[in-house]
Amino acid sequence: MPPVEIEQAREIVLSECALLPDEPVPLHEALGRVLSAPVHAAAPVAPFASSAMDGFAVRAQDTVSEDGPAALRLVGESRAGHPATVALGAGEAIAISTGAMIPDGADAVLRIERADADGDVVLAVEQVVMGEDTRGVGEDLQAGQLALPAGTALGPAELGVLASIGCATPRCVRPPRVSLLSTGDELRLVGESLARGTLYDSNAHSLAALLAIAGAEVVRRDHVGDDPAATLESLRTAVEGVDVAVICGGMSVGRHDHVRPGLRQLGVEERFSGVRMRPGRPTWFGTLEGGTLEGGTLEGEAADGLPARRTLVFGLPGNPVSALVSCALLAVPALRSLLGADPLRARSHATLATDWQTDAGRADVVPCRLLLRDDGWVAHPPKAQGSHRLSTLVGVNALALLPAGSGPMRAGDRVTVEILNGWIGWGG
Ligand code: AMP
Ligand code: MG
Repeated sequence: MPPVEIEQAREIVLSECALLPDEPVPLHEALGRVLSAPVHAAAPVAPFASSAMDGFAVRAQDTVSEDGPAALRLVGESRAGHPATVALGAGEAIAISTGAMIPDGADAVLRIERADADGDVVLAVEQVVMGEDTRGVGEDLQAGQLALPAGTALGPAELGVLASIGCATPRCVRPPRVSLLSTGDELRLVGESLARGTLYDSNAHSLAALLAIAGAEVVRRDHVGDDPAATLESLRTAVEGVDVAVICGGMSVGRHDHVRPGLRQLGVEERFSGVRMRPGRPTWFGTLEGGTLEGGTLEGEAADGLPARRTLVFGLPGNPVSALVSCALLAVPALRSLLGADPLRARSHATLATDWQTDAGRADVVPCRLLLRDDGWVAHPPKAQGSHRLSTLVGVNALALLPAGSGPMRAGDRVTVEILNGWIGWGG
């Protein structure tokens, strides 16, 4: 199978993503979750008309006087949480605090600084108009109004809105269950000591973190050496009962790369093999239909009459930069799509800060740090190129996409960038 372009690879991946089932989630645990259905306000927000200021609830017409300030009679008080017990009549005033309910009969608020109060007499130093310094019922949301559409990722503002309409357990798409398998005889777990020719499994941590912030629940992590039989067994476990399996390393066709044959043996159907990009060319993608899964459907899902479960399998290159970049470009959109959220990151344009040597035959994906200057966004590529130099990714917040055939890029050239942060509002 010839390698595909990035956009084609994404289309193939997204075409295999079906929305996952949902579950009720307590509001205090819902940060970052994605709504499975639109949420409407059952009742108006705010539920009652209130005062925007400290002062006196009045009838606007009573503050109009030809000769000097109008005199009103103080007949009660409305405090936040303690509405007035009397209605307002002609020529009367009721002391009111910010946020307190407007008493029946009142149609405006006379601010405290526009009044002269002495005992039970309130002088309206200035006239007010109807509705002044009041907030109406449902000014934020009316009864029945759409508060949040399906697919909304819940950030601070969204959680606040749900609370404001009294939604204690929004229905959210359940997080995709993901397994992660690192392959390679040379890998050691962090905490172990390094023997000659070994190095630490960094992908297990960088990939798990990327998958988690994209909304996945990483349910299993494993490592296997470069042995065909052991690889087959680990792959069998990796694809079992998960929505997505991410395998890294061993994807090439060398003597010690056993992942592809293993996946084939398990019945994982290849959808593409290789993407015309740098880094990440060996990226592989396939699907395994639920019927072949040991353990079958997960609890609760069969009853919903959902189609057979499908496991998406990503084979990522082992090089740490390549692994993270291809995971961000292809596996993360899959997770967002399974969640019913917008799968693709926001795109924009930026000015390249330094020259960049492109690859002739494939698209370049350049991890960049985007910084805002007076004349706009500037993309700073890593100082050194190399898919093994993981530290060059520190601080990266965008991927510049340079199509194949862009030729050598120069400082000052405009490039397309995908912004890496911001699934949920307010900086998350
Ligand atoms: P592979 O894709 O298995 O041929 O590995 C390519 C390069 O990536 C080799 O230098 C590996 O040592 C390195 N590598 C593979 N997997 C990992 C990992 N999980 N963590 C860190 N480096 C890795
Ligand atoms: Mg390897």
